[in-house]
Amino acid sequence: MCAETYKTPQPDEYLFQLKQAVEIMQLGLTISDLDGRIVYANFADAAMHGYQQDELIGKNVGIYAPPELRKPPTLDQLKQWKGLIRESVNLRKDGTVFPVWLMSEIVKNSDGEPCAIVTSCEDITERKQSAETLRRQAKLLRGAAEAMNCLLANMDFQTAISEALGKLGLAADMDRVYLFENHVETDSGRILMSQRYEWVSAAVSPQIENLDLQNVPYESACPRWYALLSQNLPVRGVVRDFPAKERETLEAQGIRSLLVVPIMIRDEFWGFIGFDSCQSEREWRDEEEAILLAVAGSIGDALARKQAEEELRIQREAKILAEAASESKSEFLRNMSHELRTPLNGILGYTQILKADATLSDQQRNAIEIIHRSGEHLLLMINEILDLSKIESREMSLEPCDFKLPDMLAMLVDMMRIRAEQKGLEFVAQIDHTLPAIVYGDEKRLRQILLNLLGNAVKFTDHGKVAFHVNRTAQGQYPICKVQFSIEDTGIGIAPEHLEHIFSAFYQVHDARRSNEGTGLGLAISQRLAGMMGTELHAESLVGKGSRFWFEIDLPASQLLLLQTENRLEDQRIIGFNAPTSFTILIADDNQTNRSLLRDVLSPLGFKIVEAENGAETISKMRAHAPDLLLLDLVMPVFDGLEATRQIRQMPEFQQTPIIAISASVSTQRQQECFEVGCWAFLPKPFSIQTLLELLRTYLPLEWRYASEEECDQQEPLDRLPAREELHALYQLALGGQLTRLRKRLQEIQTSDSRITPFAQKICQYLQEFQVKKIQACIREYMEDSHE
Ligand code: ADP
Repeated sequence: MCAETYKTPQPDEYLFQLKQAVEIMQLGLTISDLDGRIVYANFADAAMHGYQQDELIGKNVGIYAPPELRKPPTLDQLKQWKGLIRESVNLRKDGTVFPVWLMSEIVKNSDGEPCAIVTSCEDITERKQSAETLRRQAKLLRGAAEAMNCLLANMDFQTAISEALGKLGLAADMDRVYLFENHVETDSGRILMSQRYEWVSAAVSPQIENLDLQNVPYESACPRWYALLSQNLPVRGVVRDFPAKERETLEAQGIRSLLVVPIMIRDEFWGFIGFDSCQSEREWRDEEEAILLAVAGSIGDALARKQAEEELRIQREAKILAEAASESKSEFLRNMSHELRTPLNGILGYTQILKADATLSDQQRNAIEIIHRSGEHLLLMINEILDLSKIESREMSLEPCDFKLPDMLAMLVDMMRIRAEQKGLEFVAQIDHTLPAIVYGDEKRLRQILLNLLGNAVKFTDHGKVAFHVNRTAQGQYPICKVQFSIEDTGIGIAPEHLEHIFSAFYQVHDARRSNEGTGLGLAISQRLAGMMGTELHAESLVGKGSRFWFEIDLPASQLLLLQTENRLEDQRIIGFNAPTSFTILIADDNQTNRSLLRDVLSPLGFKIVEAENGAETISKMRAHAPDLLLLDLVMPVFDGLEATRQIRQMPEFQQTPIIAISASVSTQRQQECFEVGCWAFLPKPFSIQTLLELLRTYLPLEWRYASEEECDQQEPLDRLPAREELHALYQLALGGQLTRLRKRLQEIQTSDSRITPFAQKICQYLQEFQVKKIQACIREYMEDSHE
């Protein structure tokens, strides 16, 4: 718009427009004279203070001010006055007050003299409220941050949650903040809530001891709360507006308004956190609710973490307990196996001797055979249980070394072929000839697996064949050689529902007749051993058709050459030894049966036997007899075999005396201890006589003499025979199979009359061969001779 076209309104018109503008202004405006009388108040000003405009004319502006602020300025002050801008509080007609922003100015007349005061007044209630809200929110946020910090800090949960509730209570200006946890009533399945933690301000009394706040069922106390909270929605408001039933409970606790927000753990409604205001009816804003929901989320996280830690702790404790239990189980099994092995040693030893007695009736022989087989079955079971427990308690480790794979397989094949053929089965063995001659692995454990699988194949097959295939698979790269072992039979097979369980311990599918021969542990042990070797056994089977078990294993080819395997004792009967001198053997064992067994085995061969029953006696007998070899039981009274060995090795004269430890304990640690104190060999009980003799040949300068047919039949001329009655008594002992007494009697006669030595030796020889029938025949013959 250009200056030429602008037309200034006439003064009257101008005044009219100005007045209208002032009238419709949002801002309140009053004009008062110098005495403070209101001359004019615009509409907004009158409305703001609750008056009609004309009501105000002539009233003193002091009516706007609460009494304490009513101090009208003096004239002098007004003359000096440069105007005023300030925040104040004004009074409405109804007596209520509200915050205002005031600006006053002096109005001057045409002479420049002050003649009136004009005041603009703005109602700043809303502005003040939002500032207050912002302040409250900031405080709450700070409190929330501090609370979360407590929950994250590395303190125990109880302390963390108590501190967090306190921080929130102070930040939210609350009187009480608390945490309720949900739980299910066992009998009814109802969901209950119980107060767990609480913080209260100084103004109210705590409710944590209030039993009415424990085990409260939602469904009867406040179903509305459950409906909201379980949907992750808060309950909030002024108690006065709540349903009557809720109001009753809440007012009883002095609560005037509250906010309750749910705590969810992994999307499950765990409980809630509540904020009570007891002194005023606090209106909660959405923003505050959002902040507290976030805090509740953090509390949920902290609780979840606490639960996880608790579970971890329980798991850790359970693990420690399980380890302790497993340790005591292993200990128990070790002891039990030791206790059982000792008597088994006697049983199996004597059945070995008795089996050779030619005078036994078929029934007796049968009975001895049963005792022997039962003993062996028991021994197998003990060994298997011990193996399994060792694997489970991780005590067993593989002991790999170089071994001749083809030799091991050939031995297995020979053994299994005989067993299969005895059952009328065909045994097919197909062994890859490209397998390396020497491989590195645990020969003993591999053989154990194969023996179990092949043994089962023969055991569970009545017709047809058992096939054993050993093949190199294509994948293996030299020097690693991947070998697949497969054992297939045409036996009774295993139904699918059993097949999945057969590798579990003590699982037996088939009838008692067959199961009697096994323990149900073989496959479980084999599978675990295979696991230790980094492989797995597989099985497939068809009922009535047969089964196949197979596994693949890495057997690295060895570059080392193996020592020649020692010559084993030929399977011939030993009847004595050739040596430049005789040998004395000290048998140290507290168990009479064990000593007798050893003596019965060794003295007929020509060894002089000395016995000791405990550690102390062992030392004194060593001194007295200076034996050539000591057979030493480890567990003995006074002091044990280990201590005895220690003492013996300190004596210069016995530095080079062979000591063979015999023990029912088969732990490797025990064996290690034996070697450390100075034993040269370890013979586990029950021992095989063959192994014992093999050890004697190793440590004593002797050669065994074997029985030959001619030797057995050859009648040697005798110098002298015992008296007839003596012969008769001996014959009775031989008939009754009382071999120990027979031997003892012979020794006694021999001591009293050395001329009968050739006769005694002859009988002893038969005794050694367990040829009881021959002994009987021989004595009978002499009896007849002595008759003549
Ligand atoms: P056991 O000492 O009883 O043989 P194992 O653990 O070796 O124990 O075998 C468990 C069970 O699996 C056996 O009792 C038998 O029922 C079944 N089983 C194992 N091998 C065969 C097989 N080749 N044919 C049929 N059944 C078998």
